[in-house]
Amino acid sequence: SACSKEPEKTVKTEFLMDTLMELTAYGPNGEKAIDAAMKRIKEIDVLMSVSSETGDVYKINKAAGQDPVKVSDETMYVVQAAQHYSQLSEGAFDITIGPLVSLWGIGKKEEVPSQAAIDSTKALVDYRKLRIDASAGTIGLPERGMSVDLGAIAKGYAGDEAVRIFKEYGVKNGIISLGGNVVVVGTRPDGKPWRVGIQNPFKPTGNYAAVVEETDKTVVTSGTYERYFIKDGKRYHHILDPSTGYPADNGLASVSIIAGKSIDADALSTTVFLLGPEKGMEIVEDLPNIECIMITNDKRITVSSGLQDKINITDKDFVYEE
Ligand code: ADP
Ligand code: MG
Ligand code: MG
Repeated sequence: SACSKEPEKTVKTEFLMDTLMELTAYGPNGEKAIDAAMKRIKEIDVLMSVSSETGDVYKINKAAGQDPVKVSDETMYVVQAAQHYSQLSEGAFDITIGPLVSLWGIGKKEEVPSQAAIDSTKALVDYRKLRIDASAGTIGLPERGMSVDLGAIAKGYAGDEAVRIFKEYGVKNGIISLGGNVVVVGTRPDGKPWRVGIQNPFKPTGNYAAVVEETDKTVVTSGTYERYFIKDGKRYHHILDPSTGYPADNGLASVSIIAGKSIDADALSTTVFLLGPEKGMEIVEDLPNIECIMITNDKRITVSSGLQDKINITDKDFVYEE
């Protein structure tokens, strides 16, 4: 109508980084901003996926057991962040998880590897052996068969880059949704906070267990429902515990992290998931400006202290525990 103040809205979707990406931008530059952000996400995908032969991660892994290789500044940045969370969690999150990820091949095959294969593969995983020389701009893996995997963090970085590009184009309101990673830019066009749904881990995508209201924040979820197979009644999912070599099995169904930067939220959703309910919540409470929502397999929801008055449980199947 003539008096409508709703600014122009642009939405585009693409399948990138193994997931559905949906970018929404308000205002006259929306389309240009989204196109530029999608282009940037594609560049990051090439640099940081294990399978793009022209990318940095591929180069690092191919050179395992040989000299360190020169990488781009952005790969160095993401690798350093991943190494930070590896250290913070004492290897529950481990940037060198690559060999176990390919052994299990969750999402590609549906087979439990032999115990012998798990043991020998697990021995190749150790973030403390990764060589990072920031001044030379090089990264190296000392042993053949080792490999880095940025699957738990690269999408977070891509989210931050998409926000940076939205702002460059003057987009003040929008949503960047990269699979389970959401970044909200500014407020809704009407000035109210964005409402972000927390996926119900037991129902198809788009069914929410809870809702949070946020402005200029990112909400990233890691869960057992993203990629998995069921064998003999047991669920095998894609978040692997480097100490056992098996998918993490600690009673958690999902962990959502709310933060200012999506690279932190992505790394932390995986880290907290791996640390489990007690240690995971401890680490969150120790970190400033980080909040967390945990959903257990027995349908309990617990949240960090900063969310206790803010969380809205929308599905009565879940029990809220203070
Ligand atoms: P999603 O990929 O569904 O967004 P996450 O962000 O939690 O979920 O990342 C899971 C991915 O992280 C796995 O597919 C794998 O590539 C990688 N990964 C699995 N286990 C670990 C681990 N212990 N440490 C670091 N990365 C891991
Ligand atoms: Mg993650
Ligand atoms: Mg993720």
